[in-house]
Amino acid sequence: MTIKKIELLRFGVPFETGGPRFGFRPGANDNPWTVKECLMVRIETEDGMEGWGESFGHLSNPSTMAMLENLIAPWFIGRDEADLEDLMEGANKAFFGFGRQGPCMYALSGIDIALWDLRAKRAGKPLYQLLGGPEGDVEITRYASLMRYGGDTEAVARNTARAADLGFPMVKLHERDMPSFMAAREAAPEGVAITLDVNCPWSVEDAVAIARELKQREHVKGGFLWLEEPVWPPEDFDGLAKVRAEGTGISGGENIGSAMEFSHAIQAGAFDILQPSIAKVGGVSVSKQVFEMGRAAGVRVVGHSFYWGPGYVATAHVLGAQPAPAAGQPHWLETAFIDYAENPHDLVDPFDPVMMLRADRPGLGFNPDMAHLQKYLIARAEISA
Ligand SMILES: [Mg+2]
Repeated sequence: MTIKKIELLRFGVPFETGGPRFGFRPGANDNPWTVKECLMVRIETEDGMEGWGESFGHLSNPSTMAMLENLIAPWFIGRDEADLEDLMEGANKAFFGFGRQGPCMYALSGIDIALWDLRAKRAGKPLYQLLGGPEGDVEITRYASLMRYGGDTEAVARNTARAADLGFPMVKLHERDMPSFMAAREAAPEGVAITLDVNCPWSVEDAVAIARELKQREHVKGGFLWLEEPVWPPEDFDGLAKVRAEGTGISGGENIGSAMEFSHAIQAGAFDILQPSIAKVGGVSVSKQVFEMGRAAGVRVVGHSFYWGPGYVATAHVLGAQPAPAAGQPHWLETAFIDYAENPHDLVDPFDPVMMLRADRPGLGFNPDMAHLQKYLIARAEISA
């Protein structure tokens, strides 16, 4: 069916951190981070069907929205939604010169997710079933991804203990210092995995030294499951492979822009865990491909989804379509462990370790209450013929 209209909706929901509040990331923005944004892409077809997608994200939203409004969305108007694969290949070939990583790919990702939502709705199935998942409902296990508390070990310990008490099987920090790492490790029982996301700060040499030190702390409740993006720049796959040789699990991939780049990372032996970000890397089409590549290479995939909109829900569906990573082991869905002014929709609950995807909800099953979300609207645009 012909794509008639594309609507862009940028929302920001206020949240509490559960500790001190900092800017988005050291060096990026020192203004305290107070609202969690979502840039939604809504595709409407000639017969009135709608598909929902999400494009990344946070501080880049004005750029991504401009890219969508002025360049990417108009290209899709008047084309047939059913030609998903051809459309995405055509759009990628048309626009690759404007960035194989960044707002151009984020924009394409949001469109791709919305097209998959539409395709699954047309098939009358939830997306996870369309992608080969089980017939019944699917239970997804969330993991708690903590805000950055800037080395406040009390806040780290308190929030880690809270997440563990709530039943989360894994807690991820966004700290960069050993006292914070150990505060989290001590605060959670041994069966709860602790992972460390440091967001690309260190030279290979410094990261090697830290990975070695983490390995030496394994006697403390089993230590740490992974160290995420330890090296600057993030695409130094050979450097990451050297860090990985120290024996602490290394994860990364949220800053990788394509399936091809993932294959280079796998060939270099950079990662124990691959983390494609569905709203950045090319949507459902590329994300599911990375799962296949990971399976073929024996590397686990745990998607990046530090967001709350259709991209977050799509991440859960792609997970729900995969075979278990190992017998009895669940897939993990990254979920920001923050207290929203109110949960933006019924598939987000940051304090519930279980998310249910229902077999009777076609597509993403993402049915936002627009009257409810209206008060969080920051910007809106509509593209049509
Ligand atoms: Mg990360």
